[in-house]
Amino acid sequence: LTFLGIESSCDDTAAAVVRADGAQAQILSSVVDGQTALHAAFGGVVPEIAARAHAERLDLCVERALEEAGLGLRDLDGIAVTAGPGLIGGVLSGVMLAKGLAAGTGLPLVGVNHLAGHALTPRLTDGLAFPYLMLLVSGGHCQFLIARGAEEFSRLGGSIDDAPGEAFDKTAKLLGLPQPGGPSVEAEAATGDPRRFAFPRPMLDRPGCDMSFSGLKTALLRARDGLVAEKGGLTRADRADLCAGFQAAVVEVLAEKTRRALAVYAAEGAAEPALAVAGGVAANGPIRAALTRVAEAAGVRFLAPPLRLCTDNAAMIAWAGIERFRAGGRDGMELSARPRWPLDRSAPALIGSGK
Ligand code: ATP
Ligand code: FE
Repeated sequence: LTFLGIESSCDDTAAAVVRADGAQAQILSSVVDGQTALHAAFGGVVPEIAARAHAERLDLCVERALEEAGLGLRDLDGIAVTAGPGLIGGVLSGVMLAKGLAAGTGLPLVGVNHLAGHALTPRLTDGLAFPYLMLLVSGGHCQFLIARGAEEFSRLGGSIDDAPGEAFDKTAKLLGLPQPGGPSVEAEAATGDPRRFAFPRPMLDRPGCDMSFSGLKTALLRARDGLVAEKGGLTRADRADLCAGFQAAVVEVLAEKTRRALAVYAAEGAAEPALAVAGGVAANGPIRAALTRVAEAAGVRFLAPPLRLCTDNAAMIAWAGIERFRAGGRDGMELSARPRWPLDRSAPALIGSGK
């Protein structure tokens, strides 16, 4: 099966071609046209600008993906497109293009949940067997999922406010470090003392897998303003210590909550138990190291797909489309874009699929 995947739910316009042969999969092309520069001046993604950029770039992205794969539309077996959740303008652009291509070629159309794309990536890269535990940590998401099937996910818990990536980005902004905040905060933290400033460990005292990261920003702000009041500004060392303290708090919360999620997952009795991560925050060295240790202690395999497949891309959408198609899922011309679409209630995707 060879599928074209289309992704436009946030600030990356992407198209990819993936070929699957049984459990083997091959990414024939994966084009990602990021919009970071377009939004840089605004300190965040501006939905209107994102929507216009997607509309302008999607066609070319698809053309490039096909060209790099050395294929034409008639060589495909289906078209997968992110139908949500995300910024509605962008999702709509992708869905309209996919519908047009499907209508023009007669190819099957498969709407994909963006989060399912992330969550199924370890099957694309490593053929991971169900059920596995997934920690999705990005700029917009933070949740534990047990993946049992292409459309079967249970959510064990997640952040009740900011996602960790968002917290890294806000930390960078408050300290005048470049965006995206993750890499710059990690780099600063490497030379800092994590014990100099006291950061809370939100919700560790509460049972379950839910997390909270917005309080870390408040703690950071207080510490920063204290330093500014005291000596009129921040030194390089102050900044490094603040980053180190913040990052240590995120690492500890994620590690402890992952321990708990693994305890819940143990009841699945998986033959090949595994913990996989996805999302840009999975690039963080200390976070990866902590999760590796937690998985090892639980006797569970740890897997982190390569970064370009951890962040937004269309190969994961093509793959999730193939998985859903194999399970009998497909959509008609009434496929709609959904700004909100929780993964553990996948029913909306099935509208028009005859299921
Ligand atoms: P989503 O895909 O959930 O809509 P997104 O597009 O913002 O959100 P990704 O592209 O997966 O998410 O990841 C980007 C986020 O990852 C940013 O918030 C960025 O700061 C964070 N990030 C990237 N590298 C690191 C790192 N080394 N440490 C911590 N965070 C990081
Ligand atoms: Fe994403």
